Amino acid sequence: MTTSTAPDAAARRKRSVKPDNSPLPGQAINTRPMAGDAIYERILSAIMEHRLTPGTKLVEEKLASIFGVNRTRVREVLARLSHEGLLTTIPNRGAFVASPTPDEARAIFAARRILEPALLRHLCEHTSPAHIEQLRAHVAQEAEARERGERRAIIRLSGEFHIRIADLVENPVMSKMMRELASLTCLIIVLYDSPTVPACTHDDHGTIIDAIEQGRTEEAVAAMIGHLHHIEQVLDMSTPPGEEEDLEEMLGMD
Ligand SMILES: [Zn+2]
Repeated sequence: MTTSTAPDAAARRKRSVKPDNSPLPGQAINTRPMAGDAIYERILSAIMEHRLTPGTKLVEEKLASIFGVNRTRVREVLARLSHEGLLTTIPNRGAFVASPTPDEARAIFAARRILEPALLRHLCEHTSPAHIEQLRAHVAQEAEARERGERRAIIRLSGEFHIRIADLVENPVMSKMMRELASLTCLIIVLYDSPTVPACTHDDHGTIIDAIEQGRTEEAVAAMIGHLHHIEQVLDMSTPPGEEEDLEEMLGMD
């Protein structure tokens, strides 16, 4: 890849790989350097909210310009996202938002059905009124987003409900795993979801909270497993999505 230390705006636009939909709206005018963690969170949110869709190329130089940082910092963030399975890095081609295959998607749901009941069992044993309050406040936010019809916020908040449960267990390893699985699930939903079906129904989340609050561990676990089955079942993974075919073809990988 050629380097250019001060590309003008026209040149940047020319190099844009997604001219119809800027990957990170609102960031183009940011000239203050951002920390790696902040850049990571920004890209992660864009993936969670489906602003960055599977197969999108993330150009180091463009991101460096958007965030007002050097390319080394961008590269570190992309390496981290790649390590977490959210990006696919191809030597000499760059980093692309991952496009999980149906088999990978099923493996991710299977992993969630093992991890999340374990998290719930732990939470049920150690729960406090503050935990319940936090989870109910989160579901209230989901309901508000639903009322306003904010699809991006609905999808992000739905995924975050599951991350919050993991965070309440106060095990950083579990939290990290849940974050990665929830982000990958968001990619799967954008690839395979029917546009009319919500990611999580907030009634399910409410049922899970009720069971935690009342110490009904097995009910909480059963509700969670049923909820994850439901999310997987409403996705149409019978045929590979178009984006994936295009990307595979483009990369000569199929
Ligand atoms: Zn859910």
